[in-house]
Amino acid sequence: MNDNIRINELCYSTLSSDNPNSFETYVSLGGYSTWKNIVSKSYDKKEIIETILKSGLRGRGGAGFPTGRKWSFINQDSEDIKYLVCNADESEPGTCKDRDILRYNPHALIEGMLIASYAIGADTAYCYLRGEFMDDVYTSFKSALKDAYDNKYIGKNILNTNIDIELHDLIGAGAYIVGEETAMLESIEGKKGYPRFKPPFPALKGLFGSPTIINNVETLASIPKIMKNGPQWFNSVGTKDSPGFKCFSVSGHVNKPGNYEIPLGTPFKKLLELAGGMKNGKKIKAVIPGGSSVPVVPGEIMLETNMDYESITKAGSLLGSGAVIVMDEDTNMVEVIHRIARFYYSESCGQCTPCREGTGWMYKIIDKILKGKGTLEDLKTLESIPNMISGSTICALGDAAAMPVESFIKNYKKEFLKYIKNKEKVLGKNNNKEFLLQQK
Ligand code: SF4
Repeated sequence: MNDNIRINELCYSTLSSDNPNSFETYVSLGGYSTWKNIVSKSYDKKEIIETILKSGLRGRGGAGFPTGRKWSFINQDSEDIKYLVCNADESEPGTCKDRDILRYNPHALIEGMLIASYAIGADTAYCYLRGEFMDDVYTSFKSALKDAYDNKYIGKNILNTNIDIELHDLIGAGAYIVGEETAMLESIEGKKGYPRFKPPFPALKGLFGSPTIINNVETLASIPKIMKNGPQWFNSVGTKDSPGFKCFSVSGHVNKPGNYEIPLGTPFKKLLELAGGMKNGKKIKAVIPGGSSVPVVPGEIMLETNMDYESITKAGSLLGSGAVIVMDEDTNMVEVIHRIARFYYSESCGQCTPCREGTGWMYKIIDKILKGKGTLEDLKTLESIPNMISGSTICALGDAAAMPVESFIKNYKKEFLKYIKNKEKVLGKNNNKEFLLQQK
């Protein structure tokens, strides 16, 4: 555990400036000096990968896979064309950290993408942004990209070193599923965003059939400072298996929802305090600690849990993308899972039966229960569906849809039963609205 809470150390380090996203601000804070050094001194690629490996940085998109290890899967000796792709399709409900990095510190991401491209031997990189970012987020990134090109940090013959790296931006059409890495590759190739079967993994056969590394925005934006300050600087905070800083997007019933960049291993209590504590002085009921696709954790357990990969797994959930959704004592858990189930039902791409059909069944049964028309048999069926989806699908969306349903029933079954047992009341009155009000 770290008592010394440092906020905005990495990805949001430009926030103290009036123009956080400007090229001048970033350079005045020492930005691009690492990249300059790397290209002018022709750094050894393997050494860069080794530094990231030693730092212990884990992917910040959700899976938490060690970044240096992922990079090391690329065969640098091969003559194949290689690509770097930045996954900026941040769509997991509750998550809004990458959006703010693109908005307030886009140059850290660009510098991170350049370093990563160099390390893996890629001369072309893509930043794939979610469709809904077509506002100031996209504008901010686009203008940062132009400034970096104008100042010769990207493009042909970078800083007169004969090194060429092109960095392209792409904007999606708003589908959640293209956040899945292989669906994103399909989309970049101009096809429908359907996830691919794995193996082969993208590091072997990715974009246009070539070796490709895909990293999340926060992961890549962390690279320049790790390279500049050294791996020990990064892993001296956090825990042994969860080193470094992490941005958490806190939302729900708190006084100050927002993004908080803190060392991993910080107690949840401290994060809640940073977010201004519970709204209206209410008691905490539950927390979804890693985005809507992870299991819900009862509030009393979260209050004793630290914000790192191992502790949250021990508490029965996953750190995921770091979207912390806090719910107070008045929250209707059946309504919450109804909303979550509807999301995954509508976002399933439909390629595999367990996901396509299972997400629909789960949503429809929860909807029936919420309308006071559910039976005990329905609840039993609902309980059995997640198990039939998990591990039986092409991509992780199936599991993402199944885990929340399973955990909501496990922890809040009484609330489901309350709807089922009161159903005669509803059917008798034929007035769902009144019934729903009674349940609150
Ligand atoms: Fe599509 Fe769902 Fe199968 Fe993923 S799990 S490929 S989203 S149907």
